Amino acid sequence: MAMNRQHTIAQTASLSGVGVHSGKPAWLTIRSAAEGAGVCFVRADVTDRDATIPALATKVTTTGLGTNLSNSAGVSVATVEHFLAACSGLGVDNVIVELDGPELPILDGSSRPFVELLTQAGLKEQGAPRRVLKIVKPMEVRHGQKLARLSPAHGFEMRVTIDFPTRAIGRQTIRFVMTPGAFAREVAWARTFGFLHQAEQLHAMGKGLGASMDNTIVVEGDSVLNPDGLQADDEFVRHKLLDVIGDLFLAGGQIEGLYEGEQPGHALNNQLIRAVFADETSFAWA
Ligand SMILES: [Zn+2]
Repeated sequence: MAMNRQHTIAQTASLSGVGVHSGKPAWLTIRSAAEGAGVCFVRADVTDRDATIPALATKVTTTGLGTNLSNSAGVSVATVEHFLAACSGLGVDNVIVELDGPELPILDGSSRPFVELLTQAGLKEQGAPRRVLKIVKPMEVRHGQKLARLSPAHGFEMRVTIDFPTRAIGRQTIRFVMTPGAFAREVAWARTFGFLHQAEQLHAMGKGLGASMDNTIVVEGDSVLNPDGLQADDEFVRHKLLDVIGDLFLAGGQIEGLYEGEQPGHALNNQLIRAVFADETSFAWA
């Protein structure tokens, strides 16, 4: 399979599950899409307005607890990053994602179920060359101790560091190069994480209603509370890398460049993509 060509999926596939914040169940169905279509979410439960929401950085409206998109008709879709990371990691350029609720299912808190769904649907090569966003000038955004930077490189490379003042996490760094198979092997299975003391605050805000130890690594003090523990000591930074990969796919194509993140988050990643697009001398579509 020539990875420099665009890909969609060969057949329709579905799964269902609850949203981590809404607690509401939703069915998600993926369908093949035309060359150049990109990833497009469609709210099947919304019939009185335009229910199509393209997966693009310009559609990102809120980033507090996940990456959420809205279209100009005010129709939104929440927590898209784990699905988009799977598309990026497997090389799926064009896909329609039908959803009958406001939020994507959290499933096990990782991208693994989405990797399995896309694999079950099968990849199909298309004629057009893949769109690649080539970074030609370093760009960075900062917020306090947080930093996200893109600079020129061959291929798509990432270095992510997190630092949490608990012995359960501490300082963790990962380097990753996007090559075929690497995402499924090294990143896709890393689950989302949260702190027990935040759960009550989230519940008071009507968020985190679907969160449980089935879909979240729960940290309290210096301990991981999940009975089965971690899949790897650095599962936390691997999940942060997973989020970065999902957020960067909102550029509208794969990136050719080096991403460096220090305590990155969804908001900073979105600001970085917007900063790149705001400076025409920083990138080229290849
Ligand atoms: Zn995540």
